[in-house]
Amino acid sequence: MQPLDVPALSRFIAMSVAGGLGMYWGVGLLFERLYYRRRTEAAEWKCQPKRWPSPAARRREILLGSANMTVGSIASGCFVYWVSKGGATTMYFSVAERGVAFTVATGLAYLLGTDLALYLAHRAYHTPTLYRLVHRTHHRWTSPTVFTAMAMHPVEWATYQSIMAAPLFFLPVHVGAVIFTLLFTNYYALVDHSGVRLHSWLPFVAPTQFHDDHHAHFHVNYGQTFPLWDRVFGTMRRKNRRYGAAVFGGAGEGGGANDEPWDYGRRADAVARAEISPRA
Ligand SMILES: [Zn+2]
Ligand SMILES: [Zn+2]
Repeated sequence: MQPLDVPALSRFIAMSVAGGLGMYWGVGLLFERLYYRRRTEAAEWKCQPKRWPSPAARRREILLGSANMTVGSIASGCFVYWVSKGGATTMYFSVAERGVAFTVATGLAYLLGTDLALYLAHRAYHTPTLYRLVHRTHHRWTSPTVFTAMAMHPVEWATYQSIMAAPLFFLPVHVGAVIFTLLFTNYYALVDHSGVRLHSWLPFVAPTQFHDDHHAHFHVNYGQTFPLWDRVFGTMRRKNRRYGAAVFGGAGEGGGANDEPWDYGRRADAVARAEISPRA
């Protein structure tokens, strides 16, 4: 067994913590500056203009989120150190080793496969017992902000971290695809919690209203980055159904004659915005 290289391990941990907290705080403070201070104009930009977290709730989400991010980044730093010392993983480092087509295919499999696993895990956390014991912590914030993204029970945080790490032990995936997926997934997790009405320039990524509705209506819209899985498995919000903290299952109640999926398109968003903030 190799002796522990303390300077290298410390370097990897420091870089990982700086990167993780830098992204978390960087995006959080950007939204703070661009939106959260404009409270009087909330109808212009906020998904839920009349609902705000209390200062105490904001302090709690920032503390819990930062603690999770720090622990997760320390674990990532240890993993990178272990790989750098020749630890066994199915990641590879040169595209030439496997070819471009293989690299793109397994990169997409990693991105979509982890997103599906995150959907299924999140959905499992919405079953009554797991919800009460674990996931309820994250749903204390009914009007989320960027900082809510990482504010959750440590067990739930560890679950999602494990989902991102597990394929690196059986799926041959290029290191670049792994870094891209981690940045992509984390960035959208932060923005999806922002509470600001935004649409991605990528057509297959959910707009922010999608996850904001998850916090407002609880057991619906379980998807992480892509709304695809909710569409496939029938857990996307529908127009005339009732949802709430006590309505489990993801399908809501009622529906009736006009049982259509909620319209998350740009046009519907513009109409809703105009209704909330009527112009003279
Ligand atoms: Zn949830
Ligand atoms: Zn959330």
